[in-house]
Amino acid sequence: MNELKKYHEIPIGGTVITKDVVQPKTGGWRMGEKPMVNLDKCVNCLICWLDCPDTAVLAEGTDFFGFEYDYCKGCALCAEVCPTDAIVMVPDDQEVPEYGRMLNGGPHEN
Ligand code: SF4
Ligand code: SF4
Repeated sequence: MNELKKYHEIPIGGTVITKDVVQPKTGGWRMGEKPMVNLDKCVNCLICWLDCPDTAVLAEGTDFFGFEYDYCKGCALCAEVCPTDAIVMVPDDQEVPEYGRMLNGGPHEN
């Protein structure tokens, strides 16, 4: 069996410098639906934030905040994993409050 190389013998690879990365606006690929949240049902578990493949779920500190639609492609994973059914998918052309935030059935802007 070949002997493993020492770390300093391995060729240097590429590095992605995150400050230089342009995040593609995947919201342009949305598939007909987008998420909206009923904040009165949200328990701030942040499972949706962890599972969103496009970092479109926003948090403020340790609290769930809402959705950044520029980066949301409407995959519905967030709604699927939400343990309290706080997230609902609505038609893409439906008017929703900024960041998709609803409270007690009405828009919640702050
Ligand atoms: S639908 Fe939810 S999980 Fe999917 S991209 Fe949008 S915010 Fe993220
Ligand atoms: S998964 Fe549901 S309950 Fe948890 S933070 Fe997201 S919206 Fe709130």
